[in-house]
Amino acid sequence: MSIPVGISACVLGHKVRFDGGHKQNRFVVDELANYVDFRPVCPEIGIGMTIPRPTIRLLQLPDGDERLVEVKNQDKDHTSKMKDFAHKQVSTFDELCGYVVCAKSPTCGMERVKLYIPNGNTVPGGSVGVYTKELMAKMPWLPVEEDGRLQDPVLRENFVARIFSLNDFYLSLRENRTPGAFVDFHSRYKLVLMAHSPMAYKKMGRLVASVKEWDMDEFYYEYRQQLMDAIKERASRKNKTNVLMHLQGYFKRSLTKRQKQELSELIDNYREGHLPILAPLVLIKHYLNEYPVPYLQLQTFLDPYPQELKLRYGL
Ligand code: SF4
Repeated sequence: MSIPVGISACVLGHKVRFDGGHKQNRFVVDELANYVDFRPVCPEIGIGMTIPRPTIRLLQLPDGDERLVEVKNQDKDHTSKMKDFAHKQVSTFDELCGYVVCAKSPTCGMERVKLYIPNGNTVPGGSVGVYTKELMAKMPWLPVEEDGRLQDPVLRENFVARIFSLNDFYLSLRENRTPGAFVDFHSRYKLVLMAHSPMAYKKMGRLVASVKEWDMDEFYYEYRQQLMDAIKERASRKNKTNVLMHLQGYFKRSLTKRQKQELSELIDNYREGHLPILAPLVLIKHYLNEYPVPYLQLQTFLDPYPQELKLRYGL
């Protein structure tokens, strides 16, 4: 499987930074790269800047406008070129299922990038890199994450789950925009939605119930946005415990008293934070093999991405 994912070239290890260095991320290179087809872009090289090159930063003008300027000569303004480049580049990204950007960069940073004012002070909260701002504005459904934040197990898992879900959405529906295909896809994502956002679960249930009233292309775009917004919400331990209990309910009649007790204990231990979610899930999957339930076997929640990524070990 090869899922197209954009990436700041320096995060992949390309020596394209202003000083000729890179910011290679081990998770990206050693693990994620086994499953995705990275499309590296260095926007600063893209607009014709050299290696090495003068350092640049974001400058907020008195009217609020943000400019991408050279630190040593603020008259050298790269904003328009960068916006044009981003605009053209993003228009080629239709297929992408995610994007890893380099933190803190005035070009690629996703949040809290230092934003200066003319007297050299900074604006609290910072801003977004010029290129990434354009990317996120044009593709608001796209999973975007910074290299540094991928060190956090929860953020990492969430990002990867979103990439695989978007890829699944495209494979299932891009060429097959029919009411039946949307209903089937949604049915597989019910537990994922329950885990990430019970509110979105209800809202999207109503959306899918009305699918026959929609133009199929409009529905496709609306569903994609709502799905990606929902999965972006962190799946809390409480919600995931509810999903596990929901799964447990399907085995009411098939399990012995001792088996039920064993599963309940694992779920309790997960709820209290003593065990990762993998522990009850392994047992549930085992019971699913013994006592098949077709609706459950199709649930993406059980296998949202390859196990080899080991993303559920610490959650
Ligand atoms: S942060 Fe972005 S612009 Fe800077 S070197 Fe990396 S890819 Fe290039």
